[in-house]
Amino acid sequence: MSTERTIRLTGRTRVLAVFGCPVEHSLSPPMHNAAIAALGLDYVYVPFRVELDDLPKAFDGLRAMRFAGANLTIPLKQRALELVDGLTDNARRIGSVNTLYWDDGRLMGDSTDGEGFTRSLEVLRPARPERALVLGAGGSARAVCFALADAGVPVAIANRTRARAEELAAAVGPLADVMGLDEAGLRKASSEADLVVNCTSVGMIPEPDASPMPVGSLRPGQFVYDLVYQPRETLLLRQAAESGATAANGIKMLVWQGAASFQRWTGYWPDTSVMEKAID
Ligand code: NAP
Repeated sequence: MSTERTIRLTGRTRVLAVFGCPVEHSLSPPMHNAAIAALGLDYVYVPFRVELDDLPKAFDGLRAMRFAGANLTIPLKQRALELVDGLTDNARRIGSVNTLYWDDGRLMGDSTDGEGFTRSLEVLRPARPERALVLGAGGSARAVCFALADAGVPVAIANRTRARAEELAAAVGPLADVMGLDEAGLRKASSEADLVVNCTSVGMIPEPDASPMPVGSLRPGQFVYDLVYQPRETLLLRQAAESGATAANGIKMLVWQGAASFQRWTGYWPDTSVMEKAID
């Protein structure tokens, strides 16, 4: 099996990294190292625990040691905006960097979350959504809302802190509006949406028995995309199954945003099934 090939380190091996805090539970090292092994490339992907205040020093190290690229995860994605040599338009408007790559000697910051969301949704549910309900207004919600609006899909945004939803809707433009997070508001928005995306951390370990949607608010014909992937089966996914909706957890988005980063670093589009098998 190609996924069982090992990585052989050489004097020329190029280092990729993920910086985060915590980083110990990241699925990115096995996912990327499986992709590297399957392609037989001379790279290795290594996790580094980096505290927020140490991020400038980590950038110095990455530059001095000529790392080939890196991912950034919680809580570093916003701080990185001011530490790169340049930003892609996408990272600038989302306000978040999850990928560092080199372009003509400049360390660039990009966000591949929106691309990961769009590409994985095309695989999971090829029909274009008519209208989406997005729960949340943090980093992943920003990536998802811009990606949906770019595809011409109207988006209703519901967030615990309403002001953040209003700010996001204003940034996204006329295709976005704001819904209340109260039960009546959620039921109404859900009845009008054929796509529901959970971009909050509600339902994530250590609180797997919480759901962002009221009981009985989902319906057949709807696709429910929970970006949470720890646990693999959230309460929201069980609610979707009970309501006759189809649903998926965040594993595929994780894989496809990783594949997009991998391409920035190596020039190769990796085998996403190899990456998924390495972490599922
Ligand atoms: P974030 O920027 O910190 O945003 C968190 C969002 O969750 C905010 O909208 C926040 O609302 C809301 N929230 C948190 N606790 C809540 C609660 N108890 N009740 C209601 N709303 C609550 O985080 P993020 O980076 O967007 O990540 C959000 C989730 O998506 C996480 O579970 C993460 O693992 C997952 N994710 C998955 C992928 C993937 O590839 N599958 C990629 C990125 C993120 P307020 O604005 O009111 O604080």
